[in-house]
Amino acid sequence: MSTHLRMLAEKAQHELADATAAEALAWTAETFGDRWIVASNMQDAVLIDLAYQVKRDLDVLFLETGYHFVETIGTRDAVAVVYPEVRIISAEAEQTVADQEAQFGQLYRTDPDRCCHLRKVVPLQRVLAGYDAWVTGVRRVDAPTRANTPIVQWDELNGLVKVNPIAAWSDEEFDAYIAQRGILQNPLVSVGYLSIGCEPCTSKPLPGQGARSGRWAGLAKTECGLHSRTHRVGLEGVDLQPRLDLQPAGPAPVVPTAEPQG
Ligand code: SF4
Repeated sequence: MSTHLRMLAEKAQHELADATAAEALAWTAETFGDRWIVASNMQDAVLIDLAYQVKRDLDVLFLETGYHFVETIGTRDAVAVVYPEVRIISAEAEQTVADQEAQFGQLYRTDPDRCCHLRKVVPLQRVLAGYDAWVTGVRRVDAPTRANTPIVQWDELNGLVKVNPIAAWSDEEFDAYIAQRGILQNPLVSVGYLSIGCEPCTSKPLPGQGARSGRWAGLAKTECGLHSRTHRVGLEGVDLQPRLDLQPAGPAPVVPTAEPQG
């Protein structure tokens, strides 16, 4: 099966190289039927809205790491209201945050790669095992590590087809789609969080720096491993040098919080 899917992905990578988001999603729905899922970090509902136009009973994957901002959980709940036919599938780690911290301490401080592996990469792989394709909101302008993202590709790590319908979208196109269709957004965006992940590892980007500069700020880590094309899970783009200003244990780091949280 995976050989068939790989060949399918390689053919589509060429044929859909210049496809619009609508074309890529129409191909996904037609090719994979019910065996595809849309990943969302609940920063906004752009990708969900696009996919909803080709499939109403859409499966949406949310990585419930246990470390999210309350606004992100609220956005997830709002998506379920705005897109009522959507089925939100939460991918959770085997350990609760409390159990993980009791066993390992605050891994996001001492070993964020391991934390991402346990709370994102492994749960993602478990859910994706039930599908033939997944759809992501990765865009080339997100970061240098994403500059060559194709519209369709073979995901070697997870063994299925990966579709990136908005890979070629600029920030202006993205913002225009939100404005034109009144797309749901995480309220943290309006207070300056331009790339939202887990609360301990997310801060506002510094002026003049890219949107993802607020992710794991102070670390060379730029990706959580979800979009790695290698088998070295979680290690692509990661400098394993420990953060020098962090101690292995102790109180939680001070991170900027959104104004609504006070
Ligand atoms: S982003 Fe941070 S808190 Fe979330 S899984 Fe990765 S290291 Fe852990």
